[in-house]
Amino acid sequence: MGNDTIVALSTPPGGSAIAVIRVSGPRALEILDRMAAGAASWEPRSLHACALLGEAGETIDEAAALFLRSPHSYTGEDTAEIFCHGSMVVAERIIDEAVRLGARQAAAGEFTRRAFLSGRIDLSQAEAVADLIGAETRLQAKVALEHLGGGLSRRLGEVEHDLLGLLTVIEASIDFSEQEIEVYTAETVASSSSGARGRIAALLESEVAGGKLRAGVRVALTGPRNAGKSSLYNALIGEERAIVSSVPGTTRDVLRERIHIGGFTFFLEDTAGLGATTCEIEEKGIAKGREAARAADLVVFVVDAHEGWDGAAAAELEAIAHCNHIIALNKSDLGLAPDVEEAAPTAGPGRIVVTSAATGVGLERLRELIFRHTAEGEAGELGRERIAVNARQGIALRRAETALERLEAEAVDGSPAEILSIELREALDAIGEVTGRAVAERVLDEIFSRFCIGK
Ligand code: GDP
Repeated sequence: MGNDTIVALSTPPGGSAIAVIRVSGPRALEILDRMAAGAASWEPRSLHACALLGEAGETIDEAAALFLRSPHSYTGEDTAEIFCHGSMVVAERIIDEAVRLGARQAAAGEFTRRAFLSGRIDLSQAEAVADLIGAETRLQAKVALEHLGGGLSRRLGEVEHDLLGLLTVIEASIDFSEQEIEVYTAETVASSSSGARGRIAALLESEVAGGKLRAGVRVALTGPRNAGKSSLYNALIGEERAIVSSVPGTTRDVLRERIHIGGFTFFLEDTAGLGATTCEIEEKGIAKGREAARAADLVVFVVDAHEGWDGAAAAELEAIAHCNHIIALNKSDLGLAPDVEEAAPTAGPGRIVVTSAATGVGLERLRELIFRHTAEGEAGELGRERIAVNARQGIALRRAETALERLEAEAVDGSPAEILSIELREALDAIGEVTGRAVAERVLDEIFSRFCIGK
């Protein structure tokens, strides 16, 4: 727990009906009492209308406030929450006054860090707070809420419980070795360990889905010039972001906008049209576009279906054929060139869509295909389990997994209990990293720096 008292604005800065200021730490009540006379006699958890007074007794704001007594608060510390008018001038004055009365401006994530340090939440729950605040879709919020409610901690708690049981048995055999009691066999160790390892592996399977859910999915639009990439890009994001022009080579840089499909965030990238050019800037744009296509989770190859395939378009498609891709046969409103669908070097079934950026035909199908070929499987998995291990948790869980693999091999080899105990402790230590029982200060700094001030 912090031994000082911190203060911060917990709502976003800027004008709003109400702003919330939080004060947490041993002097929270004293500070509130100095600003809102009589607060010391308030019933905890009850909201009071009050005038907030400055140093000279002047009114800073007519506000409402409440006091929460440790440990029944978010941080687990004494906490005051002030609901003032949402003017930055007012909020800043209240914060200044709290600082004058002995509080310190909170650092990013410091309230949640204190909640973790006071044992109110574990580390996986603290990470879920940041995920929930950053959620842009209901699925992202749902998964974050499951973690926040202890979904991951509970699952790991069960694994820990079983491994601790095994550790007790193994250590007992060390302590009582003179009495030559057989308290475990290689088979019992191996089977308990592999059971635990299976549950860890199941959690690890959610890491890919978790990565996509948190980091988003990259989709690059590429194809010959003038096929309608920028028009499709604008139609998908719902605004005129990219310049659309009949002059070939208008798009030079890679444009990036986010859209949401099926609960996932997609970063849509419009790239320079492919084809031979003598313009140095366009050449650079094309190179950047190729790079974006290589790095994308999915490439949407856009062709002018009215013009049909020419040798150059087919060659460009060939160049990205190894990437996960779909083909959009655009400008269908002008009529399709004969055999354009058949002649499309197929990317496989369900990977060709006929579109018109001009009329909107095929756009919904295009969104569907983008989702299907990048995130549909993951969405189903997350919808069922609502658990998505993050990269940091994945590293720790893989460490636990390999320690258990070694444990099983050692048990089968008939290694002494001391060795088995070391591997088991290593596995438990790694699991502890997820919940935060064994994390170094440096890791904590990294996790809580992702937060905003006031959370
Ligand atoms: P890009 O070079 O591939 O990005 O193509 P643009 O989006 O800039 O479009 C090139 C030209 O084709 C512009 O004049 C657009 O108005 C036109 N265009 C784009 N999509 C369609 C479409 O679906 N139908 C028709 N008729 N014209 C389109």
